[in-house]
Amino acid sequence: TDNVLTIDGPGGAGKGTISGLLAERLGWHLLDSGALYRLTAYAAGKHSIAFDDEAGLAQVAENLDVAFPVADGAVQTLLEGEDVSRAIRTEQAGERASKVAALPAVRTALLKRQRDFSQPPGLVADGRDMGTVVFPGAALKIFLTASADERARRRYEQLQQAGVDASLSSLLQEIQARDARDTQRSVAPLKPADDAITLDTTRLSIPEVVEQLTEWLAL
Ligand code: C5P
Repeated sequence: TDNVLTIDGPGGAGKGTISGLLAERLGWHLLDSGALYRLTAYAAGKHSIAFDDEAGLAQVAENLDVAFPVADGAVQTLLEGEDVSRAIRTEQAGERASKVAALPAVRTALLKRQRDFSQPPGLVADGRDMGTVVFPGAALKIFLTASADERARRRYEQLQQAGVDASLSSLLQEIQARDARDTQRSVAPLKPADDAITLDTTRLSIPEVVEQLTEWLAL
């Protein structure tokens, strides 16, 4: 696979922000694969598909009617024409996403849709299994991490800025629960690809991370 940069790692490590900035800087496409799992869970709720109905959920994933139009420089997420940009970003939506993401049939159903994002001039792919499963031939694979405490703190700040009440200790618990589910599941568990470079961002600013990755991309 030419010109694919994969950025995997646990939730809250800064993948979304970093991927967006890099895609913009490079003029490459952006795949937010987590959004597809969040959308699958959301659509399942909307159509009253049970969270243990693997075949039903896979069908929802296969038939997702989504669009990512750009309005005023921000990417919107439309599901069946409905703006769900905010609705899929809640902690609850992330929790549900990680439940449907543990089902093999759901992951298979989303594979082609994800690979279709790889178009010239290039793709920045953000997720958990971009380097291990979806784009095993990617030119550069990054595994972004940060301590759970730091990730909880970043999430807390984001929520504060958005005017959402939150507790640091419950955010930390949620992050740890989601890490456990993502790393322990049987299919596509969260782990660095054998040929990935791991970057611990606990003590790095966003510009420092972007600089480091840009440097590695140029090598
Ligand atoms: O990255 P984000 O928090 O949006 O992802 C939500 C959930 O979707 C993750 O906790 C994970 O369980 C799942 N996911 C996944 N594979 C991906 C991206 C996300 O399993 N490539």
